[in-house]
Amino acid sequence: MTFEDLRAELSGRVLVPGDEGFEAAARPWSSAVTQPVAAVVRASDADDVAAVVAHARRAGVPVVAQPTGHGATGGIEDAILLRTGGLDSVEIDAERRVAKVGAGANWGAVQAAAAAHGLTGLAGSNPVVGVTGYTLGGGLSWFGRKYGWASDAVRTFEIVDAEGARTRVGAEDPELFWALRGGGGDFGVVTALEFDLFPAPGLYGGRVLWHGARTAEVFAAFQEITADAPDELSVWFHRLQFPDAPPMVALDVAYLGDPEVGRALLTRLDAIDGPLADKRGTLSVANLGEITAEPTDPSPALSRAELLTDLGDAVVKTLLDEPVAPLADIQIRHLGGAFARADADGGARGPITEPYLLYALGLGFPHIAAAVKSRRAEIVDAIGAHISGLKPYTFLTPEETAAAAFDSSTLARLRAIKRARDPQSVIRANYPVLG
Ligand SMILES: Cc1cc2nc3c(=O)[nH]c(=O)nc-3n(C[C@H](O)[C@H](O)[C@H](O)COP(=O)(O)OP(=O)(O)OC[C@H]3O[C@@H](n4cnc5c(N)ncnc54)[C@H](O)[C@@H]3O)c2cc1C
Repeated sequence: MTFEDLRAELSGRVLVPGDEGFEAAARPWSSAVTQPVAAVVRASDADDVAAVVAHARRAGVPVVAQPTGHGATGGIEDAILLRTGGLDSVEIDAERRVAKVGAGANWGAVQAAAAAHGLTGLAGSNPVVGVTGYTLGGGLSWFGRKYGWASDAVRTFEIVDAEGARTRVGAEDPELFWALRGGGGDFGVVTALEFDLFPAPGLYGGRVLWHGARTAEVFAAFQEITADAPDELSVWFHRLQFPDAPPMVALDVAYLGDPEVGRALLTRLDAIDGPLADKRGTLSVANLGEITAEPTDPSPALSRAELLTDLGDAVVKTLLDEPVAPLADIQIRHLGGAFARADADGGARGPITEPYLLYALGLGFPHIAAAVKSRRAEIVDAIGAHISGLKPYTFLTPEETAAAAFDSSTLARLRAIKRARDPQSVIRANYPVLG
């Protein structure tokens, strides 16, 4: 395959193996994944995207769109990797409470722009995660218990379809709109999206950290608080094991509303003695990432997520009694609220009714990667009766497929749409629905 004709058509850059900068351009944020692709294109605008898709179709090679590589899965040796980071515009229409962002924008940029108007998007925990990949996969936000999935907040997508044509997709194309709202990146290359913003009258949040000896007390508080939390409050429980540090336990909290109300809802935590750190306080939604303070630099994260049907004794014993190592974090996120109320016909993500999400995280450094993987598997085996088997698309891992994110009728509908709209499979998602 030659890229000379494509180079001539684009204002962005085409890099092939051997070109200076190729390797850096092909490297995803998830540094445990390698991407020895046929070429990397750094698109400058939507016309570049259209030219790349049309070229890929003619050449019979897949296109993989990737702003950041947070969701990279590998297995794309022959593909054209389409870097969309250059399409990073962010426009806020405060009156209509709508954001229009380019396909390469990240959540940090959107939240900073929205916060200036007292508004928020449905952002997750990390400011450098891309809005597009997150939203196409559903997008589990700190504010999702109140306002639902990020994908359901989308009003319109601007896409390049598998023919290479630019088009706008909204409610007037209900099948494609439904698929794009949570079905992943298989159905078009998005060049921009427009989505609802929500009022952010205040935010109270932060992490409280204790020595691991307090685990049982902290977990009891987590259960009590989440049993009747209002939808504005989200609480995540963590058991943490950092290198060369003692075991620790933490609660991350976010209350969207009057900070005094948030503070009052969490006074239960004041009864647990000896916090090592208490970062609770008034926050701007622009600084949402401070709550978990996750790494923003590339990382070899190895994670595994499962939806928990309950926090019964077997789950508690498995998650609380054994050491965390070789994992770094055993996390339980409270779901419920609007996640469970989502309209199945409004978007492919649909409702998730399990009340909690388990997220087990380790680092894939060569000396511990195998141990991390087997510990993840042991945990899942031990709590097998309390997990539903399905999980949010954005929490899939490279060993899994899209089939783990959808019930069978949703998956069949997504597959039918993919076959109809992209019969040659020109556009390849990180978790293809046909894969
Ligand atoms: C540190 C960290 C924190 C995270 N926190 C959360 C969280 O709080 N909530 C949550 O739900 N998820 C979270 N995730 C998961 C994250 O949402 C997914 O990995 C998501 O795929 C990342 O999107 P991206 O665009 O940044 O990644 P990329 O890897 O660049 O893209 C992922 C996939 O999205 C699709 N895609 C991206 N852009 C386009 C486009 N323009 N057109 C068509 N398809 C496209 C493609 O299929 C691509 O392979 C987190 C991940 C990490 C690593």
